[in-house]
Amino acid sequence: MSKHEFQTEVTQLLDLMIHSLYSNKEIFLRELISNSSDALDKLNYLAISDDKFKDLKYEPKIEIKVDKEKKILTISDSGIGMSKDELIKNLGTIAKSGTKSFVEKLSGDAKKDSSLIGQFGVGFYSAFMVAKKVVVESKKAGSKSASSWISEAGGEYEIKDSKKENHGTTIELHLKDDEVEFLESYRLKSIIEKYSNHIPFPIFLEETKEVEEGKSETTNEQINKASALWRMSKSEIKKEEYNDFYKSISHDSEDPILYSHTKAEGTLEYTTLFYIPKTAPMDLFRVDYQSGIKLYVKRVFITDDDKELLPTYLRFVRGIIDVEDLPLNVSRELLQQNVILAKVKKASVKKILSELKKLKNKDFEAYKSFYSVFGKVLKEGIMGEFENRDLLLELLLFKSSSRDELIDLEQYKEAMGKDQKEIYYITGESASMLKNSPLIEGFNEKNIEVLILDDEVDTIVIPNIGQYKELPLTAANSASVKSDTDTKELDEKYAEILVKMKEELKDEVKDVKISSRLKKSPTCLVYDKEDPDFAMQQMLKQMGQTDMPPVKPILEINADHEIFTKLLEKKDFASIKNVSLILLDLAKLSEGMKIEDSSDFADRVNKLVAGSL
Ligand code: ADP
Repeated sequence: MSKHEFQTEVTQLLDLMIHSLYSNKEIFLRELISNSSDALDKLNYLAISDDKFKDLKYEPKIEIKVDKEKKILTISDSGIGMSKDELIKNLGTIAKSGTKSFVEKLSGDAKKDSSLIGQFGVGFYSAFMVAKKVVVESKKAGSKSASSWISEAGGEYEIKDSKKENHGTTIELHLKDDEVEFLESYRLKSIIEKYSNHIPFPIFLEETKEVEEGKSETTNEQINKASALWRMSKSEIKKEEYNDFYKSISHDSEDPILYSHTKAEGTLEYTTLFYIPKTAPMDLFRVDYQSGIKLYVKRVFITDDDKELLPTYLRFVRGIIDVEDLPLNVSRELLQQNVILAKVKKASVKKILSELKKLKNKDFEAYKSFYSVFGKVLKEGIMGEFENRDLLLELLLFKSSSRDELIDLEQYKEAMGKDQKEIYYITGESASMLKNSPLIEGFNEKNIEVLILDDEVDTIVIPNIGQYKELPLTAANSASVKSDTDTKELDEKYAEILVKMKEELKDEVKDVKISSRLKKSPTCLVYDKEDPDFAMQQMLKQMGQTDMPPVKPILEINADHEIFTKLLEKKDFASIKNVSLILLDLAKLSEGMKIEDSSDFADRVNKLVAGSL
């Protein structure tokens, strides 16, 4: 026997689990059955793919027994089992990526945290919501020895050698006194029917009934349908069943926003069942996120660890792909080059995007809440989705300079005046700052709508859209924004001032020009079309490109502004240096940029204030 300590995160999680006011304790059974089902899936895969397991005889099933006297509930499976090392690794630590940050988020307020748990997916440790002691006995398929794992939570567990006849795992839950309802067969049956009806393996419940006085009979009854839900015909499945099945595969505690079930017949036969969750899985923004898709071939599980089954920008989708026309022994390593799978993937992407579009048209409120959670991820698709580009673009939502609600590109297009030939946007950190940016003063005056993009990823992805229905997307801070006002006259009038300002600022700006876009503010900064703007430069720096040469903006000046009319009138060239530097810094500030030498800026402004008194 040996004693082991739980990884800190596990202890913290167990603590929460035990003291949790989690109202839905019954889901522990769903979680354990789901683990058993995965273990059976894995063994079935080995049996078809690994010669060593070809002759293994076993009946894939899950069995549930109760001992009312001892208050023990037992769940066993004939799945792949765990070795001693695996018991230690799987049930003593949490391998899920992002666990540490998840646990750090826990506040110790069990009521508040229980909703977080749903996002995390409780798994095996949920057993401790109802049990004071858990004993796991397991024997790995193909191995001779078995081990057991015993814990009463509280920071540690024990590992022992044990004797188990068949491969698989048995989990004994020593129930807490006030959780004995989970020994009642009617209760167990209803939980299994609710959550695990469509686990593709039979679940048996052993029941001992007194038939006469002093005489009892034991029956072993299959409780679930054991029909893979996705293989049933749509008309036979109720919405509730779809939702419950979602919970069993995703460990989510909430219903999905939508599901989509497709059976393709003809040249390519396959079934897909996709779900869009309501909340983001906690590893959504981690490179080592887990795939949410399980691949089956002719109902036999192949893998749940292939991130290529869907494009990364759809990584929040959960569900099943079951393909008829692949050989069962298809190598997992070669899946990515498989032509059939590539076709299924292509059709699946189209299907998922179309379903989202339907949702958007049918229930915009629901779509908005989807978008607030997953819009950022969806936008990543702009970089790589060429096949369904238009469909994807239709799914994007934007804030606008002239409306309060979110709009899509089509709505923008519909509201365009007939002379407008481009779609304008502005990117930056905060929507309110962008709405007041000097850069869009001219647009506002002409009633031209500008898309307000305040999401970090916008800076990178939106310029990649290029066009929407042949309308180019143009940044409002692009020097190339066309204007109908001719500045030629002003250029001449201010020629001397422009030259002087340019001379003073030559280290920081490419050029100083008369602006046709400014109406209120004295100055703004714009960029040549091929130059990355400030937000983009920031983003590139964050992504590790620190050796970029600085890109100089162009300073545009508002010739109608008092500052310049007075400057021209007084021909006060002595103050140009000071004025130029202050104006440049102010333009930077209004763009959300930092001023390098803020004390120098403060000095200049202070002097100016003093001088004006
Ligand atoms: P998850 O199932 O989300 O990975 P769990 O905490 O429920 O997380 O389980 C951790 C790991 O323990 C599983 O990934 C699996 O490898 C292993 N495991 C749990 N239950 C069983 C079982 N009945 N048979 C075999 N392995 C199991």
